Amino acid sequence: MPTTRLYYEDSYLRTFQATLVARSLIADKTALALDQSAFYPEGGGQPADTGTIAGVAVLDVQADAEGIVWHVMEEHAAININASVNGEIGWARRFDHMQQHHGQHLLSAAFEQLYGMRTIAFHLGTQAVTIDLDTASITPAQICAVEDLTNEVIWQNRPIHARFVSDAELATITLRKAPTVAGPIRVVSVPDFDHSACGGTHPSHTGAVGMLHIRRSERRANTTRVEFACGGRTMHDLRRKHTSMQRIAQSLSIGMDELEGAINRLREQEEHSRKTIELLQEQLIPYEAQGYFAQALSIGTVRVVATQITPRRVEAMRALASQVADLGCIAIIGMASDKGHLIVARAEGIELDSGALVKAALAPYGGKGGGRPELAQGGVADASSMAAIIDQALNQLR
Ligand SMILES: [Zn+2]
Repeated sequence: MPTTRLYYEDSYLRTFQATLVARSLIADKTALALDQSAFYPEGGGQPADTGTIAGVAVLDVQADAEGIVWHVMEEHAAININASVNGEIGWARRFDHMQQHHGQHLLSAAFEQLYGMRTIAFHLGTQAVTIDLDTASITPAQICAVEDLTNEVIWQNRPIHARFVSDAELATITLRKAPTVAGPIRVVSVPDFDHSACGGTHPSHTGAVGMLHIRRSERRANTTRVEFACGGRTMHDLRRKHTSMQRIAQSLSIGMDELEGAINRLREQEEHSRKTIELLQEQLIPYEAQGYFAQALSIGTVRVVATQITPRRVEAMRALASQVADLGCIAIIGMASDKGHLIVARAEGIELDSGALVKAALAPYGGKGGGRPELAQGGVADASSMAAIIDQALNQLR
């Protein structure tokens, strides 16, 4: 026999008494069926309730094809068939689901009324709540208008009616969302605003949703996914963002209203500093070149500098390689930045095709390059292979 679902009549019912009618196993866990239950089984986009039965934790709740609600228990509960048990649902989680789910009804109705955008999917997760709309584009002004209308209806604290309707009554109602189940139809209504076929748990009045805020929207092919938060989640969002902004403002010793200007100034200063560093690095190149040349190896009669330098612009790297080579050697210079860079340069009079050496050193690592006999450069996607590439170039020389 199908389980009597107490939440249909009263979504605020937190504790109840019931009789154990069957036991089973779901994924190796004990599952209990009661004659009646206030636990909401996962469905319609709304996750299952958690809570306790006879003091044992309920991890998950699922309804089977016969309409029997199975409570998946954390541990084997030593309860006899026909025994009376007490059930208690985890209220914080359930009330959160009521706020998000009803907020979704209002939001979907607002999108449809203002812009004719229909909701084609709903997901209620622990991190994010989303709806998918049958539109490829949505403007910031539309988002604001929908948010305004939804919150207006929330703050009017309109009554919410959730009930099974007769065929006669159903014929008089225009449903925003058609039923997906056969049999008696349950309709959740906000008078003069929205009627949806829905088996979920809803508050008694729209005011309980508190507030709805649209976090972001993202185009997905021909649809748009809208992420939003209601009630307690909005408050937690605000607290988290406020704390974060406050911390950033305090670290800059400014007020929160000054953050945008301060960050723009920081960006400008950073750009200025970067240019200054580049200029100083260029001025240092002759000294740096002498330092590297002093550590040159000898391969046969030729002196060779092979080294990896700190990240900088490629132009500065090339200038350094040229100056090292001009002191009378072959310079093999590597750099790991956005990717792996390799430059080979040689002094006049040394027999070497730098382009061929760059190609030979990079090829085993999937890199490419080339250039003139006196200077050549190339790159490789994986910057971490730079040390091995320098060794490879040295081996080629030997
Ligand atoms: Zn619903």
